[in-house]
Amino acid sequence: MIPTIDKIISLTTNITEKDKALIEKAYNFAKKAHEGQKRKNGDPYFIHVASTAQNLADLGMSPSVIAAGLLHDVLEDADVTEEELKKEFGEEIANLIEGVTKLGRVRYKGIERNVENLRKFFISVAKDLRVLVIKLADRLHNIETLENVRPDKQRRIALETLEIYAPLANRLSMGRLKGRLEDGAFRFAYPKEYEEVKKLLSEKKDARIKYLIEIKDKIEQKVKESKIKNVEIDYRQKHLYSLWKKLQKNDMDINKIYDIIALRVMVNSVVDCYHILGLIHGEWTPVPNRIKDYIATPKANGYQSLHTTIFTGTGGIAEIQIRTYEMHEKAENGIAAHFLYKEKNSNEKSVPKQLEWVQQLHELNENKDKPEKFLKSIKMDFFNDRVFVFTPKGDIIDLPEGSSVIDFAYAIHTDIGDHTQGSKINGKNSSLGTKLKNNDIIEINTNKNAKPSSKWLDYAKTSLARKRINFHLKSNSLLSKFLSFGKN
Ligand code: MN
Repeated sequence: MIPTIDKIISLTTNITEKDKALIEKAYNFAKKAHEGQKRKNGDPYFIHVASTAQNLADLGMSPSVIAAGLLHDVLEDADVTEEELKKEFGEEIANLIEGVTKLGRVRYKGIERNVENLRKFFISVAKDLRVLVIKLADRLHNIETLENVRPDKQRRIALETLEIYAPLANRLSMGRLKGRLEDGAFRFAYPKEYEEVKKLLSEKKDARIKYLIEIKDKIEQKVKESKIKNVEIDYRQKHLYSLWKKLQKNDMDINKIYDIIALRVMVNSVVDCYHILGLIHGEWTPVPNRIKDYIATPKANGYQSLHTTIFTGTGGIAEIQIRTYEMHEKAENGIAAHFLYKEKNSNEKSVPKQLEWVQQLHELNENKDKPEKFLKSIKMDFFNDRVFVFTPKGDIIDLPEGSSVIDFAYAIHTDIGDHTQGSKINGKNSSLGTKLKNNDIIEINTNKNAKPSSKWLDYAKTSLARKRINFHLKSNSLLSKFLSFGKN
């Protein structure tokens, strides 16, 4: 079914007559441009671009981005020129479409083999994140209609989605989009495992839901007595792909996974979040070490929520997540909210904390390293999981997993990195190569005579630290050559 103009517009909020006219114009323009073109299964090609626009509207994107979504394939696949687009829709929309077109065809053959494409991809992404969101909405429709594609292509597209697009959606805090991309791709990338996980999940499903509803009723009762206003309790089932990843870390034993279904409590304010947590811990015993306060220390992508796991008292265990409505909106749609705000306040230049990686990406692109080197930095700093550690003052530093004290020192300041002499982790002396764990508090001792040694390269994982150490080692060896030259 081709999404209608009315359907797309119905998904937007606070839309003006002018915006409506823009979406309508783009809709009709794209329909005409793709006239007669068919998808593999015989559907009109237009269904793809209209669905991409629908995805964008659903994600809460602005009218100009929705229009660009409708037009995203006219340069590549229809007889439309850039000039024509500029004349009809203005510079901004034309630039967005150009950006999407320039991403070209990033083909996945194992990440290693397409450095150059990936590089182009990231460069264009760093310039305007809205281009990336259009690309993600485009990919979502392609992945949700993947059964129409040749089997050998299915697997490539599915793997590419899991390895590149879903992590990007995650980095943009677009949780709902990430989940849909992953579950759509999982079935084609790993068919056997997909069926296995689906079966595991369905086995005790009814029992799981039944006892969560009992807990939900009890919490609702407690909330009523407490007079906290405007509380909503819901539950969510873990997406299949993230369940599979967790199963792999737990001997494929589904009984070891406590958050297959989690209760979600949503409230007005942060104070209410902690109040609810108190009510729950007063009623049930929490499982030790499973209380996570992502409100005080958000995840790298900005995710905020309180998580706790409780003994239900009837032999079971249940996870409960507590957050404000605003945190929930940000976790589901992430960056979209930011764009809407930014477009309305064009003076707003500051980048939210969770988007600082975009800036870093941009800097990485600017230095003209060899493609392999670039890829290595990208894989190290971008796709890997992160650890969160603290300065003695309580500032949070976000580093790739496997980082050491040296990486931490350089992340604070290059000058501190260059002159690191010793360190303490959680108050204990530790060597410079010690790998950091979440929540470590790290103190660096500097000495103005201390300097990087080649040993440090074994410790350093981040590209920033490695670059600085290499720089020092090179200038040192130049200096000693110069000195020994003088002696001859
Ligand atoms: Mn497309």
